[in-house]
Amino acid sequence: MEISIKPNPACASQEARNQILAAPGFGKFFTDHMVSATWSQGRGWHDAQVMPYGPIAMDPASAVLHYAQEIFEGLKAYRHADGSVWSFRPQANALRFNRSAARLAMPEVPEALFLDSIRELVKIDAAWVPGGGENSMYLRPFMFASEAFLGVRPANEYKFMVIASPVGAYFSGGVKPVKIWLSSNYARAAFGGTGAAKCGGNYAAGLLAQMEASERGCEQVCFVDATEHKWIEELGGMNLYFVFKDGTLVTPPTKGTILEGITRGSLLALAGEQGLKPVERAISVDEWRSGVSSGAITEVFACGTAAVITPVGKLVWEGGSVGDEKMGEITLRLRNALLDIQYGRAPDKHGWMSKLC
Ligand SMILES: *Cc1c(COP(=O)(O)O)cnc(C)c1O
Repeated sequence: MEISIKPNPACASQEARNQILAAPGFGKFFTDHMVSATWSQGRGWHDAQVMPYGPIAMDPASAVLHYAQEIFEGLKAYRHADGSVWSFRPQANALRFNRSAARLAMPEVPEALFLDSIRELVKIDAAWVPGGGENSMYLRPFMFASEAFLGVRPANEYKFMVIASPVGAYFSGGVKPVKIWLSSNYARAAFGGTGAAKCGGNYAAGLLAQMEASERGCEQVCFVDATEHKWIEELGGMNLYFVFKDGTLVTPPTKGTILEGITRGSLLALAGEQGLKPVERAISVDEWRSGVSSGAITEVFACGTAAVITPVGKLVWEGGSVGDEKMGEITLRLRNALLDIQYGRAPDKHGWMSKLC
């Protein structure tokens, strides 16, 4: 499908843009353009366009506002030393987007439309891709039910959109170990639920647990399985990894309740090159506690596109905690290995990088 281009007649001035790019933060500022396409029953996808970034008019009866039929993706555009701009495994995001769409009873977005949208947006807003350090442009494709109808059924009309935000490092203070709150009052996902889909509803359901974490001085929440309250699943928006003294790198299996992170998958593929043995297996809260205490587990980290790899310092629960504030050596090594590929400083042996402009 052709994406028509409607350039913004009132782009931000170079001074205004440079001021933002000097200290972008995370997800606070948006570029001059966005992508929008519409799907309706009968017509399928149509009206794909790059257009000026701005508010969208919505009918107050739009189904998404009532029944939360919404999914999203998150990926980044990285500026390499020669000035070119690249994305990391965008096809994997397109595939996952459509798995999420299927779970939420939404239409699929053709892979070409998903990938072309990203490319066109990055091309027209290339001046917004910051260089240097861990700066990048965060891309947020999303889809929502736009039909004005209060009956409960999959909607007959959807919008697919992509917006872009220049970003710096996710944690502004640099890489430092985070404290994780073990949620025992709330579950994130259950068998048969939407845990494996990247949908806004999962995040909404996790916010109260996140507040509980903040009250305990923790930055993130660790969710356990909803049945036995025993097995480690993931954080609100990041997957977890455990480094064992014997050289194994363990992450919980996805099994329908965990979001299949692209960072998680990439680390499974990279582990061998780093002399580690990747293993997907269930790991219990008890094993985390006793493993850290005995020294069998030497490092714990979280991973996701936004923050790359973040060391987990402490696991905190009602009445106790385990771990220290040290930054693991293997965590740092894996982090740099991934960043080196993304920023074009290391050879792309897996064919993960895709040039945008
Ligand atoms: C997006 C997300 C992740 C990380 O996925 P990446 O593809 O690595 O960015 C992990 N958990 C949840 C719940 C997520 O929404």
